[in-house]
Amino acid sequence: MNFELEPKYKAIQNAALDLTRQIEPMAAEADGLSVVHQGVLEALRESGLCRLMVPAKYGGTFESIDPLAICVVREAMMATSSHLDSLFALQGIGSYAITVAGSDEQRNAWLPRIAEVEVLGALALTEEMAGSDLKAVSTEIQKIEQGLLLNGSKSYISNAGASSYFIVFAREAGGYSTILVPAKTDGVSTKSSPELIAPHVLGDVCFDNVILPDSARLGRQGDGLKNALATLGVFRVSVAGAAVGLAQAALDEAVKHTSTRIQFGRPLARLGPVAQMLADCWTEIEMARLITYRAATMACEDPSSSLNQSSMAKLAASEIASRVVDRCVQMMGRWGLESQSKIERLYRQARPMRIYEGSSEVLRLGIAKQLISESQQPI
Ligand SMILES: Cc1cc2nc3c(=O)[nH]c(=O)nc-3n(C[C@H](O)[C@H](O)[C@H](O)COP(=O)(O)OP(=O)(O)OC[C@H]3O[C@@H](n4cnc5c(N)ncnc54)[C@H](O)[C@@H]3O)c2cc1C
Repeated sequence: MNFELEPKYKAIQNAALDLTRQIEPMAAEADGLSVVHQGVLEALRESGLCRLMVPAKYGGTFESIDPLAICVVREAMMATSSHLDSLFALQGIGSYAITVAGSDEQRNAWLPRIAEVEVLGALALTEEMAGSDLKAVSTEIQKIEQGLLLNGSKSYISNAGASSYFIVFAREAGGYSTILVPAKTDGVSTKSSPELIAPHVLGDVCFDNVILPDSARLGRQGDGLKNALATLGVFRVSVAGAAVGLAQAALDEAVKHTSTRIQFGRPLARLGPVAQMLADCWTEIEMARLITYRAATMACEDPSSSLNQSSMAKLAASEIASRVVDRCVQMMGRWGLESQSKIERLYRQARPMRIYEGSSEVLRLGIAKQLISESQQPI
């Protein structure tokens, strides 16, 4: 058992760290935006890191998408800018269904452009009345003479307004399908979602009598849940990677502050309760990083059968990030509360991580169900 990252992951981590140093001066501005920051987007494009999001056959770095590489990159990015992290993550989350279920034509049309960041991707699952309960969606595909007719609306969709297409999860003939909808198709419109405490490029998307060819479906009719789960299998654990990066950045801020601020004749870091908080933060971050790298390594081998491990990693790391950043604010006293400071930004950004890509409560339900099923108890 080797607990060190292999050289190929170290090289990817270094490339991500180079990029974060480059965009650092723009990070605060970009993280305050709910539209795409062009400087950050350009730097991401030039880094070539989005090639990690598609298979080599379509211009990607590796033969198949590597969840550990994505985790390591998100960890580095989130420590500097949630905007950068989100732009990177969405290139994978918003294209993976094309990779696993798209036709050759769909893959050739979109995946090389995703890798080179010529287009931005988006995955549209959530609706006004369907969040955690994905099966409650009402957006619907109907078979008509000219092809497929799509009606409905999606809300809180990352990159809406900036993406060139949407991967849409919808009802079809008593089941669920996914369909690829170019953003410029007649009947597709977007509007901004409400501003969040941690700004994010988000929008609502409306599909009003959108007509698409039969070939727009991703995979077969009825493959919708399979495609959504495949995306989670690879990308849920990457949220854990981002959460580890956020927690580490918060602790770095607290270490700087508590080592230099003197109260009662000593640096804060030498005062018992503060030292305890520092130790607890570091210990929990190490725990989160280990479970995340382990789950990501398992996901490299078999993403769907390791989804439970990814859920555990996402649950643990996002809850730890929230606890760590809260303690760090506490240790920094009034400086922890200054609006526009890095720690304040991290404090706000930690919060959505416990809600998107599986809320903590919903993840716990799935993990407990798996535990009982593995224990073969008769319930
Ligand atoms: C920044 C951000 C980006 C997003 N990007 C996208 C995107 O790109 N594409 C997309 O499709 N969606 C996106 N979403 C939406 C996100 O996926 C949903 O917010 C998430 O699935 C939770 O759904 P909800 O907000 O409707 O909460 P609800 O489902 O209404 O849940 C509210 C609360 O009830 C709890 N709860 C719900 N069901 C249960 C249960 N069975 N048992 C116990 N507790 C339960 C939840 O844990 C939560 O605490 C994004 C959201 C955010 C905040």
